[in-house]
Amino acid sequence: MSKKTLFWFRRDLRLHDNTGLFKALSEEKNVLPVFILDTNILEKLEKCDARVTFLHQTLKGLKQKLQQHGSDLHIEYGEPKAVWKKLVNTHQPTAVYANTDYEPYARTRDAWVEKFLAEQDITFVRTKDHIVFEKNEVLKADGTPYTVFTPYSRKWREHLTPADLAPFKSEDLPQNYAQISKKTDTPSLESMGFSQSSLTLPGQDIDLKIIKNYDQTRDIPSLNTGTSHLGLHLRFGTISIRNLVHQSLPLNDTYVSELCWRDFYQQILWHFPHAADKPFRAKYEAIEWRNMEGEFEKWCNGQTGYPIVDAGMRELNATGYMHNRVRMITASFLCKHLLIDWRWGEAYFAKKLLDFDLAANNGGWQWSAGTGCDAAPYFRVFNPEAQQKKFDPKFEYIKKWVPEFGTDAYVQPMVEHKIARIRALDTYKQGLGN
Ligand code: FAD
Repeated sequence: MSKKTLFWFRRDLRLHDNTGLFKALSEEKNVLPVFILDTNILEKLEKCDARVTFLHQTLKGLKQKLQQHGSDLHIEYGEPKAVWKKLVNTHQPTAVYANTDYEPYARTRDAWVEKFLAEQDITFVRTKDHIVFEKNEVLKADGTPYTVFTPYSRKWREHLTPADLAPFKSEDLPQNYAQISKKTDTPSLESMGFSQSSLTLPGQDIDLKIIKNYDQTRDIPSLNTGTSHLGLHLRFGTISIRNLVHQSLPLNDTYVSELCWRDFYQQILWHFPHAADKPFRAKYEAIEWRNMEGEFEKWCNGQTGYPIVDAGMRELNATGYMHNRVRMITASFLCKHLLIDWRWGEAYFAKKLLDFDLAANNGGWQWSAGTGCDAAPYFRVFNPEAQQKKFDPKFEYIKKWVPEFGTDAYVQPMVEHKIARIRALDTYKQGLGN
C-alpha cells in the first residue's frame, strides 16, 4: 500500500475546481477525503439550524460521489484536537491537504493542527480556494492593507488575470482517491442532536440572467430574482468563487464589485482580527448603548412599527434570508434608532442567516453602526420611511411580510424617527467626544 494522504474538507464542499483537492490529487496517489463535524461549532447552534441540514445533505452528496469513484468520505464527529489524534493514529498519513480558512477560530485550530502534525513529521499543506485574493495579495503601495473599499477594488481589478480564475480540475483526477472497500455511513442528524430544518434551501445553479441584470434589480427587495442568492453556496464552497467571477466578468460589473466586497471584508478580518468582537475603530468603544432588551425583542420579531424594518426581520425569521438593502435598513435601525450595540444584531443575524459569514456579517454591521473601516458616517441615519419610498414604493415587499400593515392590527412605531435621530447623534457625539 502506498503512503496515505488526507484531504480535509472545510468551506470547500465540492469535488470540482477545488484548489486544495486538485493539489492533493495531482501530488499524491492515495488521497482519502475527511470531514470533521466540529462539536465546538455545532454545540452553539440551535437544534433545527438549517445550515446543519444543508451541511448534512451536502456531505451525503459528496460521500455518494466519492463512493462512485471507489473511495469514500471519512466523516468524524467531535472536537478537532481529539479527532486529529485519532485520524493520525488510524491512517498514519504522510501529508494532510486543506484549503485555507481565514476566520479567527479556524486560524487558532489550524495552528494547533499544524504543530501537532509537524510533531509526527506530517506536512500540512494549505492553499487558497475560498476567495480570489487573500491575505497580502492586494496591498497598498507602502505594503499595508487597504481599509477603504474603492481603492482596494481598483487594485483588485488591476491584479486580476485569467490565470487567477482558471479552474483547478480536481474532477479529472479521480484515480488518485484512496480506494476503500469498507464504506462508512454519514452520522445522522439525530445522532448529533439535530433535526431536519423545514426551510427551503436555495439551489446552487448560477442564473446568468440575474447576474446580467443585477445593477438594475439588486435594490428591489420585492423581487426574488433581483439578486443571485448564492451566499450559502459561497459560504460552504459548494460553488467555486473563481468560476463565479469568471462567468460574471463579461456580464455585470456591479455584480463583480459585490464579489470584491467579499474579498475585501475577508482581508479586513485577516489583518485586523480584533474587529471580530470590537469596533474596527477603537474610539467607538466609548458609545453608550441603551441596550433595552424589550426593544431588541421587538426588533427581532419584526414588531417595531416601521414596516420596512419589520418586513426584513420577518423575512429573515421565516426564510433565513434578508435582502441586502433591508439588511442595511434593519441594522441601521437597531444601532441608531434603538441605540442597541451592533454586536447584538450581528449575533442575531449570525444565528439566522443561511449565508452567514463572519467577515461579511461583521463588515456589514460595523458599516451600519458607523464603527467599521470605510463605514457609513455615524451622522447618516437611514430614514426607514424614505428608504421604503425609494426601494418599495408600492409596498410589495412590505405587504408580503407584514400583511396586517395598514390595518388597526399593525403596531404603532416604537420610537419617533425625528426624536430617535437626534438621540442617536447626541449619543454618538458624546461617545466620540466630538
Ligand atoms: P448578491 O447580491 O447576489 O451578491 C452575490 C454575492 O456577493 C453574495 O452572495 C455575497 O457572497 C457577496 N456579497 C454581496 N454583497 C456583499 C457585501 N456587502 N459584503 C460582502 N459580500 C457581499 N453577506 C454574507 O455573505 N454573509 C453575511 O453574513 C452577511 N451579513 C450582512 C449583514 C449586514 C448588516 C449587511 C448590511 C450585509 C451583510 N451581507 C452578508 C452582505 C449582503 O447583504 C449579502 O451578501 C447578500 O444580501 C446575499 O444575498 P445574495 O446571495 O443574493 O447576494
